[in-house]
Amino acid sequence: MTATTNGADDTVLEVSGLTVTFPSDDGAVRAVRGVDYTLRRGEVLGIVGESGSGKSVTSLAVMGLLPRTAKVTGEIRFDGRDLLELSENQLNSVRGERIAMIFQDPMTSLNPVYSIGYQIAEAVLAHREVSKAQAKERAVELLRTVRIPNPEQRIDSYPHELSGGMRQRVVIAIAMANDPDVIIADEPTTALDVTVQAQVLDALKVAQQATGAAMVLITHDLGVIAGHADRVLVMYAGKPVEIGDVEDIFYRPRMPYSLGLLGSLPRLDQPTDRLTPIPGSPPSVVNMPSGCPFSPRCPLVSSVCHDSEPELTTVRPGHRAACHHSDRMVDTAADELFEAGSVADPDPVGDAQGAVTTEVDR
Ligand code: ADP
Ligand code: MG
Repeated sequence: MTATTNGADDTVLEVSGLTVTFPSDDGAVRAVRGVDYTLRRGEVLGIVGESGSGKSVTSLAVMGLLPRTAKVTGEIRFDGRDLLELSENQLNSVRGERIAMIFQDPMTSLNPVYSIGYQIAEAVLAHREVSKAQAKERAVELLRTVRIPNPEQRIDSYPHELSGGMRQRVVIAIAMANDPDVIIADEPTTALDVTVQAQVLDALKVAQQATGAAMVLITHDLGVIAGHADRVLVMYAGKPVEIGDVEDIFYRPRMPYSLGLLGSLPRLDQPTDRLTPIPGSPPSVVNMPSGCPFSPRCPLVSSVCHDSEPELTTVRPGHRAACHHSDRMVDTAADELFEAGSVADPDPVGDAQGAVTTEVDR
């Protein structure tokens, strides 16, 4: 593609002002409340947040896979078109081919009655004018690329004959065969053993690099993103609360929630008894109270947090955070912020939430 004068030439996918609401008997479920992101050619964007934060609904909206009851607003620009404006037929030519989706359970994507070789060869044949024998050869090659041992024999296996990790690698091989522009992987390793997780993440990286596709890597576990993402978007209660380069999020987070996610992550450079999980749980996205949705769990909470929900604001070039107190986050460590009674503010406003100690009063 030739460069354009506005410098936006390498954008493959642009999501702006995306909201998704589901009707329910208890009121509207505001699953996604305004997501914006730009995905550049060849980059990996990690989307992280606790369960229920709207990560999957955001991606299903991009794929046009939400149930009809969902009310969707905003824009999803891909290849110059707004995907939300396309007919089902037009979407079908984008979905799976130009934008591939990898789900937590590989069996959602594999057909149990065909051999894996057949399924990969079909994807190859859909994109290249090759003979069946050549397609099969390419299928073996793809299986080898995603590091399936003995691909010549494995090719005749059926999905149920493979382990979960191998099945997920077959799904990745199919995605590669489709030569997509974008790969969206939603919790691709969550169902797998820790030892297998690394292999599947490596296979994803190989696929992404070999196809030159941009990737959205969705996970509830920041550890999965380390070493794989270029940029990270942190979601909370249906909204991005921080976005920046992976180094910004890991070393200089400016939203207490991001720091909390980091604090609950085992680190090689710290003993594991220093893990500091975030107290409490995310709010319901039905009838949400006003103010910052994270305020009931936040050690930095003050009255302004109850009054208004903070907008994403630039804190450094390319790094945005939604927090009224992001200035106070500079040089703060997770265990300082979230450990009871050690809130960074020398003169705390209001009661620190979750200030429960296991020690008795002295
Ligand atoms: P996650 O970040 O764990 O992927 P989801 O995007 O799946 O979260 O869900 C976001 C919110 O939307 C949750 O509160 C979930 O219950 C709700 N939700 C998801 N799908 C539906 C649906 N089809 N109907 C109603 N509510 C839904
Ligand atoms: Mg999900």
